[in-house]
Formats: sequence, C-alpha cells, structure tokens
Amino acid sequence: MSEVQKLYDMLKKVQEPKGYYFSENKEMVFDLIQGLIDNKNRYGYMCCPCRLASGDREKDKDIMCPCVYREADVERYGSCYCNLYVSEEWNEGTIPHEYVPESRPSAF
Ligand code: SF4
Repeated sequence: MSEVQKLYDMLKKVQEPKGYYFSENKEMVFDLIQGLIDNKNRYGYMCCPCRLASGDREKDKDIMCPCVYREADVERYGSCYCNLYVSEEWNEGTIPHEYVPESRPSAF
C-alpha cells in the first residue's frame, strides 16, 4: 500500500467520526495528502499543502493540518481552505461549493 493511501486511511478513520470528510475528488485529495507528506519530510511537521510555510514550527503551528481555521471554514463554507476536508453536505452536493477565502492573518 502506498504511503499516501496509508495516510488517507488513517486520517479518514480519525476525522470522519468528528464530522470532517475527505472531498470526493479523490485525485485532488491524494495530491493534497502527498503535499502533507512532502511537508512533513521538508519541515518535520505536516503543514497545510496550500499555504506557504515559514519552516518555523512555532510560526506555522496554526497551519499544521488540520489547521485552526478548518472548524470555522467547514462550518461556514462546508470546506476547509484547501477543499481537503469537507462536510457531508458538501460531498452530497446539497450546499453550493463556494470559494473558501484565506482566513489566516498574514503570517510573516
Ligand atoms: S486548509 Fe485544510 S488541508 Fe490545509 S491545513 Fe487546513 S484542514 Fe489541512
């Protein structure tokens, strides 16, 4: 089993009971999970694959996946900033797939 598939299965098991689902766009999800693995290898922690990390763990702690913005973004838009984690309604298509704006205040 690939590293991406393993991480996908592990995260899915942990996050789904909390109400956070992977988007059904599996190709995109696998790309994002590969980004998490790359960031882990590069920085030593899994920072957001859609944001620019500083490489300083303390400065990046708000964007370690799942980031501190996920809860409010999924609540408001049905999706996190990257469209990695979404609500059930998002996957079912019963809510519009709005663009999710960046909630992070400028980090640097
Ligand atoms: S925006 Fe999504 S993928 Fe990025 S850190 Fe937050 S929860 Fe993870």
